[in-house]
Amino acid sequence: MGLNPILYIIIPCYNEEKVLPITCKMFLKKLYALIDTGKISDKSRILFVNDGSKDSTWKIICGLAREDVHYIGISQSRNRGHQNAVLAGLMEARDRCDITISIDCDGQDDINAMDAMIEEYLGGCEIVYGVRSRRDTDTFFKRTTAEGFYKILNWMGAEVVFNHADYRLVSNRVLREFANFEEVNIFLRGMFPLVGFKSTSVYYERTERIAGESHYPLKKMLTLAFDGITSLSVKPIRMIASLGCIVALLSFIGIIWAVVGNFTGHTISGWASTVCIICFMGGIQMLCLGVIGEYIGKIYMETKHRPRYIISERTEERECLNQ
Ligand code: UDP
Ligand code: MG
Repeated sequence: MGLNPILYIIIPCYNEEKVLPITCKMFLKKLYALIDTGKISDKSRILFVNDGSKDSTWKIICGLAREDVHYIGISQSRNRGHQNAVLAGLMEARDRCDITISIDCDGQDDINAMDAMIEEYLGGCEIVYGVRSRRDTDTFFKRTTAEGFYKILNWMGAEVVFNHADYRLVSNRVLREFANFEEVNIFLRGMFPLVGFKSTSVYYERTERIAGESHYPLKKMLTLAFDGITSLSVKPIRMIASLGCIVALLSFIGIIWAVVGNFTGHTISGWASTVCIICFMGGIQMLCLGVIGEYIGKIYMETKHRPRYIISERTEERECLNQ
């Protein structure tokens, strides 16, 4: 870690020909400002990830790369979605830089928060989450659904930083560990907290899209939320198991009720035995489903082959001995 780190700004782009020509200049200006003030190295780059765009986005990126050495780009063979595009950029940058900052290309996230992010990195943080301080520019609908999204995610056991999307600084040290998370269903904002290391948040105001249209209508947002929950947590399965226990208990009470009813003579013949069988089967089945679900949950987590431990410090390392 040198005094001025190499920064790679990772920018996913999907059909962004309207906004890219405007925002690319803002990013470059910011990069030069950071280089000129000696905060980052001149080897820093702006890395565009074309996510299989169908418009002229890739052509624009190629043109930019010819214009200035600080612009570089990679292109995915087809559209894979925002999360995969960011991942591709991060992995591409991993061995070439000290820090990465991922940011959307539509100018919604305030680029001036980068200064504070780098400041936090220099102060010892390995991950810096960009958090929206306000959502005034969002419609009431977007605001309530988005905030509900974070609450449900957390309640369902996927820990995410409230109001943090994918604007974040990540050091290459974290990226090296992150590369060991081999799962295919990725939900970056929920996975980085799993890596650990010192982290903090930087607050910024999110504005409206400068041009073009959002790729995240409600349907896609719900899909993202569902993916986030199911790829980070087996809590939904646990809930089935709990439900099984409750149903089994209720069935047991139901059986007692039917038997008592039978002996006190308030029932027609055949009723009690039928109720007993229904309750018994219902209870047993729900309980068994829950138990099987627990195992499926374990198998699911095992198939991810996540690292079992990550070491952050060693006494034998030089940095530690110098302290
Ligand atoms: N994006 C992408 N692949 C996709 C959809 C979106 O790389 O399949 C990029 C897009 O170009 C933008 C970022 O992801 O840079 C966020 O998308 P958008 O602004 O449409 O989402 P919103 O801000 O409305 O949630
Ligand atoms: Mg956007």
